[in-house]
Amino acid sequence: MKAALFVVLALSLLVVACSGSRTPADRGEMPENAPPANNAACAPAPTNEPEPEPEPAPKKRIVVTTGVHGNEPSGYLVQGQLAELGFTVHGPCNPWGIENNNRHLEDGRDLNRMFGRTDCPEAESVKEWLKENPPDFLLDLHEDPDGTGAYLIQHGPDDEIGRKIIDALKDQYDFDPAPKFLMVQGEDGLLKPTLPVLRVMALGKIYGLAYYAWATYGCTAIVVECPGSWPEEKRKAYQLAVCTTAKRLIEE
Ligand SMILES: [Zn+2]
Repeated sequence: MKAALFVVLALSLLVVACSGSRTPADRGEMPENAPPANNAACAPAPTNEPEPEPEPAPKKRIVVTTGVHGNEPSGYLVQGQLAELGFTVHGPCNPWGIENNNRHLEDGRDLNRMFGRTDCPEAESVKEWLKENPPDFLLDLHEDPDGTGAYLIQHGPDDEIGRKIIDALKDQYDFDPAPKFLMVQGEDGLLKPTLPVLRVMALGKIYGLAYYAWATYGCTAIVVECPGSWPEEKRKAYQLAVCTTAKRLIEE
C-alpha cells in the first residue's frame, strides 16, 4: 500500500513538473502564432551540436523479369546488361521455352496464366524468387508476335509512369495507338486496367506475373510489349530503353 501511495505521489509530481505552469506561454512570453508548447519544458535543453545529415532515401528495387514466353527472347537477351545497370533481374522464367523457342511450358501450359494457381512449378519458382527480392517496381519483358506497335500493360491504376515512359520514347519507337488485351482497350500505347477490371481478372485466377506482383507487393508492375516482327537489335534496344527510362523517372 505504501509503495502504491509513493508511486501516485511520484506521478503527481511528474505531472506538475511537465504541466504548462512552467512554460513561457503562461508567463506571457510566447508569440501569438507559436506552436503549442506541449511538454517543451520537459524536453532536453538544446545543444549546439550540428543537425545530423538526413539519411538518403533507400534505393527502390526495380525488378525486371524475362523469358516468361520462350519465343519472346529480347528481354532475356539484354538481362546481363540490365543487371550491370543496377536492375534486379530474374530470367528466363521459362527456361525450357527459351531453349526451344516456344511460348509455352514443357507441359503445354502458358506460364503467364499460372500465377493465380499453385500447381505450376515454374510459377512457384518465380514467386519464391520475388519473396526474396520484393519489388518496389516491376517490368516484365515480352514481345507480341502479332503486334503492330509497342505497348505497355500497367498494373497500378493510380500511377502515371506508364504514360511518362511512352511520352519519353514515342519519338524513337512506334506505339500501338489502340492496343487491346483481353477485355481492356488502351490508347496511345498504354493499357491501364482499372481496379474493377483487375478485380475481375483476379476472380478468373488466370493472371500473369505482373498482376501477381502488383496484387502481392502493391508495386506498379508493367508488361512491356513490342512487335515480334521488329528486328532483334531493335527489340533489344527497346527493352533496354523502356527499363532505363523507367529507372530514370523513378529515381529523379
Ligand atoms: Zn509474352
